[in-house]
Amino acid sequence: MAAACIFCKIIKGEIPSMKLFESDKTLAFLDINPLSYGHSLIIPKHHGAKLTDIPDDSLLEILQVTKKLAAASGVENYNILQNNGRAAHQEVDHVHFHMIPKPNQEEGLGISWPMK
Ligand code: C5P
Repeated sequence: MAAACIFCKIIKGEIPSMKLFESDKTLAFLDINPLSYGHSLIIPKHHGAKLTDIPDDSLLEILQVTKKLAAASGVENYNILQNNGRAAHQEVDHVHFHMIPKPNQEEGLGISWPMK
């Protein structure tokens, strides 16, 4: 844990989050600024800024949790994104995997088009 890390504070419950899954190694919660409905973050509890800082067993569980999350929420189309470094648009220096649902035309987002 890193005292000043915002995701470590979320893990400790010092900052509220919409938790989706929690185990000894992993936490999944809704992104505060979603790119689409259901945009989630899956993070290791082990603090590390870059992918290379995270133990393999924790990375493996993150992928397993991501798979379960998508299945449990019925999301069929999604991107998994993991940014490393400022030039790669990493803003939070605690490793996190984005699961970003991509609703298809049929699923929609509850918005009728053209908007009136
Ligand atoms: O990969 P990157 O570092 O750019 O993404 C950080 C993500 O963390 C953003 O999508 C942001 O909305 C999210 N975030 C959050 N809750 C916070 C701070 C950041 O969900 N308290």
